[in-house]
Amino acid sequence: MCSTIGYAFMQAAGTVNDHLAGCKWKIEQINLVHLCDMITKEKILDALRNVDDPDLKKDIVTLGMVRDLVVEGKNVSFTVMLTTPACPMKDLIHKASVNAVIHFVDKDANVKVKMDADTSSRRTDAGAILPHVKNVIAVGSGKGGVGKSTIAANLAAGLAKLGAKVGLVDADIYGPSQTIMFDVMDAKPMIQKINGVDKMVPIESYGVKLLSIGFFAGADQAVPWRGPMASRALMQLFSDAEWGELDYMIVDLPPGTGDIHLSFVQQVPVTGAVVVSTPQTVALADARKAVGMFRMPAINVPVLGIVENMSYFVAPANSPEGGEPAPDNSPLRGQPQVASVAQGPKLYIFGKDGAKNLAAEIGVPLLGQIPIVQSIRESGDAGRPAILQENTPQSAALMEMVNQIVQQVAIANAQKQEKKKGIPFILA
Ligand code: ADP
Repeated sequence: MCSTIGYAFMQAAGTVNDHLAGCKWKIEQINLVHLCDMITKEKILDALRNVDDPDLKKDIVTLGMVRDLVVEGKNVSFTVMLTTPACPMKDLIHKASVNAVIHFVDKDANVKVKMDADTSSRRTDAGAILPHVKNVIAVGSGKGGVGKSTIAANLAAGLAKLGAKVGLVDADIYGPSQTIMFDVMDAKPMIQKINGVDKMVPIESYGVKLLSIGFFAGADQAVPWRGPMASRALMQLFSDAEWGELDYMIVDLPPGTGDIHLSFVQQVPVTGAVVVSTPQTVALADARKAVGMFRMPAINVPVLGIVENMSYFVAPANSPEGGEPAPDNSPLRGQPQVASVAQGPKLYIFGKDGAKNLAAEIGVPLLGQIPIVQSIRESGDAGRPAILQENTPQSAALMEMVNQIVQQVAIANAQKQEKKKGIPFILA
């Protein structure tokens, strides 16, 4: 504590006592500085206790996210270690950290905050399968055709776009489509000897490492595998491949609930599952079953939430449903029907809010409502996931979904860690 009358000369050698005033003085160059005005590490940490991680609902100091704090006069620098490079709150936390120092400590402080990330994980089985993969996210659906593979592709590409290290396993063994969606149909994974063992090397596209049964079956070749054989083939994509370090591995599961799912979750440490459904009643019935499967005691995989796909359609301006056609001289004439040119009302082709209501009913988060957009289908066929588009409504909706999923993974990991230790959790 400083006394109210205690000023200090700052001295290179440190603090000296002023016996007359009965308080501490220091000499720094020729300036008089009140000790109370000095910036200290303690003051910075106290200020940063006012900055909460919005997802984990605790302050960034308690969470152990503040690292490498250096104070030199008015210059303050530190690193905020996020739980994922794909943190949607990155800019917000950065701004709040700078503001906290300026507001609570010194308005003239020169604050430099480095944002870094060490992806959280709740894996405890190091050395087993996929030892360097921090989070495995399974994407499933009750039935086929609801957009599960499209959502898995966009989730993987979106995470990579945000700077995470991402892998994608196309485990939809009866209808692999990720090779098309990532424009790598003709690629053939190389085999590399690693520590004397032959390993497949995933193909990389848009920053995503990909392996699919589609690489090994011809385009017009059906894969007539029966249960155990299919499971064995699938497991090789995990165990006999060189995945390296990954923040997230996305697994595009076959639709439905069956043997493959069971053997997959028994052998691969799954962080959580995302269930995709359209809002339609018949799809919802099966989505409910898929959630039930992940929650079965024998499977016991946390359900991160439900993505409602094909939630609504916004008719383009130049379609019969979409109101007035674009004038002949409009730059919109002849453009692909992307929602950015759409002006019509929202049409709920498959019903309104079906998956949203199901999520609320069964107590899981709604991870997004993705519109049905021609350009999402076209992007899939063209081999460039729609989330990579710049500033379109569909890429924004997909990115919002990615943010929600990342958030749920971070929350699940933090809760697990907190439970395990029984003390305030320290991330990373
Ligand atoms: P699943 O994996 O569930 O069988 P797919 O991802 O293969 O489903 O999607 C089925 C079809 O619907 C594909 O032609 C895909 O391009 C298309 N599709 C998926 N989601 C959308 C969407 N939001 N808007 C437009 N088309 C979509």
